[in-house]
Amino acid sequence: MNYNYAADTRSLYIHWPFCPYRCHFCPFVAFVGQDAFMEQYHNALMKEIKDFAAQCPEKLIIETVYIGGGTPSTWPNRLLLDMSAILKSSFTMKNLSEMTLEANPGTVEQEQIAVWKEAGITRVSIGVQSLNDTVLRRLNRPQKASDVRQLLRWTGNEIETVSVDVIIGLPGVTDEEWKEMIQELVTWPIKHVSMYFLSIHENTPLYTRLKKNEFALPEDDAVVDLYYWTVDTFADHGFGQYEVSSFAKAGHESLHNQVYWERKPYKGFGVGACSFDGELRFENMKNLERYCKSVTTHEPIVAVSESLTLQQIRLERLMLGLRRRSGVKIQDILEGMKEHESEKFLAAVHELEKEKFLRTDAENIYLSKMSLAIENEIAVRLLR
Ligand code: SF4
Repeated sequence: MNYNYAADTRSLYIHWPFCPYRCHFCPFVAFVGQDAFMEQYHNALMKEIKDFAAQCPEKLIIETVYIGGGTPSTWPNRLLLDMSAILKSSFTMKNLSEMTLEANPGTVEQEQIAVWKEAGITRVSIGVQSLNDTVLRRLNRPQKASDVRQLLRWTGNEIETVSVDVIIGLPGVTDEEWKEMIQELVTWPIKHVSMYFLSIHENTPLYTRLKKNEFALPEDDAVVDLYYWTVDTFADHGFGQYEVSSFAKAGHESLHNQVYWERKPYKGFGVGACSFDGELRFENMKNLERYCKSVTTHEPIVAVSESLTLQQIRLERLMLGLRRRSGVKIQDILEGMKEHESEKFLAAVHELEKEKFLRTDAENIYLSKMSLAIENEIAVRLLR
């Protein structure tokens, strides 16, 4: 099964997998100590992009680009500019409204900011995670709070939208430290915050260390309380919540993420990158050497392709929609349901509304504030 080249694709994801260290909580496709492969990988990646563009019946008009990783701020300047030129020659970029680059503090030289701007970057997403250097070092992320503040000074007035990522529930961060960080964060020259709950993924060192009782996680209830405190603090400082984990000053909501949430097509390039053409999902192979070789020799690089059942699509719509301030359209969930299924679903909505977990209007369902931190459970209850 191939990506539908005629799909209405307006968004691209580009994966840069190189990292200077491996954080113990990281589930992403990322490689440490492989920098010698950067140029070879770049060339393969550019070939994948050009080959894709050549197959499309018309030049695609691209609106959003997201460069994720890995650590894309380690992409050498010369090669990053080459990538930008290849995007411009392969696609129509005149409607581009957002081009994001992920950057990690401590991996950036000041001169790079001008290069990013020249490459067309409009949005930088900075991986702050925590300002507690000791906690981060224990998680094998040797990043310092001073690196964060320096990168903010360099980008704050230069890049249209600066976003920061923080992780709530990291072991070793006290409530007081978290609150101090948030109170400092709201004074930074940023327009967007993503706040993620710590997830423990199997096959990560954090998972193994937790199994060996090397550390304890904070209590769930305490983390949820802190989450609500943070939501309120962001609101007090003009960061509107438009999704469970996403907060923005007006007009700075991430356009690219909305493509994912609305289940619109996007094409991903690079090792382990995912794509969705509106019908099918694809995932590229995750082995760096095999990826480079296969692109070069025109062998298939897609490792997984799948179509979802109607029930899976419904659950996905529900989970993605419930997370958003705009809610989920009732009609989108009822689509294709038999009469008894619709009745069961609407009864579940009614029940959860009575329990104050949901709000509804004529068209949509919304999470209530008290269920923001348990949206997965709510989605499962609605469709069981
Ligand atoms: S910097 Fe990001 S991608 Fe790299 S190891 Fe850490 S969490 Fe993973």
